[in-house]
Amino acid sequence: MLLSISPPPKLFDIDAIPVFDYSIITNRDFWVVPENCNDTDFEKFLYNINMENNVYVGSRGCPYQCAFCVEGNLKQKHRMRSPEKIYFDLRSLLQNTKSKLIIFGDDTFTASKTRVFEMCKIINQLRKEFDFVWFAEGRVNVLAKNPELIRTMAQAGMLVLQVGIESGSQQVLDAQNKRITVEEIKTTFAEIGKLKDLDIRITGNLILGGTAETAETLQESLEFIKELYKLSDFNAQINYSYLVPFKGTPIGDNPDKYDVTVLNDNFEMDMHQFAEIICHSKSVTHKQLSAYYSKYQTELFHFFQRNIFYFEKQKIDNRILSDRKLQRKYAIPNDMAPWTRTIYSYQTFSSYYDLFDKKFIIKDTQNVNLDMYPIRVWEIDYDFQNNYYLFDNLKNEEIIIDGNDIFLWEIADGQHTIREILQDKNSPFKNNLSQQIIELALNFYKKMYENFALVFSEI
Ligand code: SF4
Repeated sequence: MLLSISPPPKLFDIDAIPVFDYSIITNRDFWVVPENCNDTDFEKFLYNINMENNVYVGSRGCPYQCAFCVEGNLKQKHRMRSPEKIYFDLRSLLQNTKSKLIIFGDDTFTASKTRVFEMCKIINQLRKEFDFVWFAEGRVNVLAKNPELIRTMAQAGMLVLQVGIESGSQQVLDAQNKRITVEEIKTTFAEIGKLKDLDIRITGNLILGGTAETAETLQESLEFIKELYKLSDFNAQINYSYLVPFKGTPIGDNPDKYDVTVLNDNFEMDMHQFAEIICHSKSVTHKQLSAYYSKYQTELFHFFQRNIFYFEKQKIDNRILSDRKLQRKYAIPNDMAPWTRTIYSYQTFSSYYDLFDKKFIIKDTQNVNLDMYPIRVWEIDYDFQNNYYLFDNLKNEEIIIDGNDIFLWEIADGQHTIREILQDKNSPFKNNLSQQIIELALNFYKKMYENFALVFSEI
């Protein structure tokens, strides 16, 4: 028997859809619950469903036509739901799902400047009633011309702004009809770097191996990413992947015209293929492209790591503690927290920052005094040959603990205040407790703190 299914009618007026009723998500009557699922399991399941149901789309389609993109090349126009309807949709979503992170799935949230202001207005209204943050996608041509939009969105709770970078080569951008400039990308990232008073990060995506790509443009993009990291003051997460020649896009439909060799025509049947090279420009080989991908991975990870490790400890602490708070409060995933991900590449740092959750741990060294308890955080091997302790800090510098500092280090187990340590019967300083000695001890402990080796406790 042959079944024929007529395509669903095209949805032109998205404002004609009634306000979404998210209460059905938590209503047991709408679920087929297996017999062996008890109430607790069902509640857990609902909780997870709630946390996942946080994607909201307030407009369909996109007014641009990038040559690699499906959305921009759909026949239907860019259509926007009215802010009034969106207000009530979001209200229902926030009320019923308890989500605290809204992902705006609009292809270009920033398609129009007026629209962004209207959206921020309703979001601000909702934020008076609900505690949530959000993610949205923008276009750098709009953002670079109207940088005030970034501040407005950040002030309205936008935590992550995602933009398409695609390439660091203007030649590649133009060949793919991206209609943005490298200068606009730089301006947008620099704006993020300037917003020091607001917690906002930017995510940028690049496509490797598409039209007009050469070994030189791949190298250009690699250097460009480093520049963007710096401009954003490292409040950036930059992702890159190979071009996927989707059917319905100008490149997918006319690869030859776009200088692209497609290696596997059946890729749409296998999502796993997207991590592989499916096509490449005729000016770069499969081998070159794959080698560049590995180069990006190693070089960029180390570049990011090297740079953030050189920031002041206070800055690293603030960023990690803020990420941890956001993770707990709004269920922000780790891939939105590039600093945490990088610092936690050293496993021990996760437990180091666990300590900071405890109220009695001092978060900076400004107020450290003799009545505080220093606590060694790591076990460091003693070098018997040279009579010192030695470790490498995050900046890869060697830190040596020798002479009388060895006593200060070994006794710092959180059981004694600095005053008690200096007066201890085994203390080399007990007969000479001058101001100078006190300063030396405090400075030693502060130095260990600055090198992530020690914390101070108030009790
Ligand atoms: S890549 Fe973005 S801007 Fe370009 S067509 Fe697709 S959705 Fe629109």
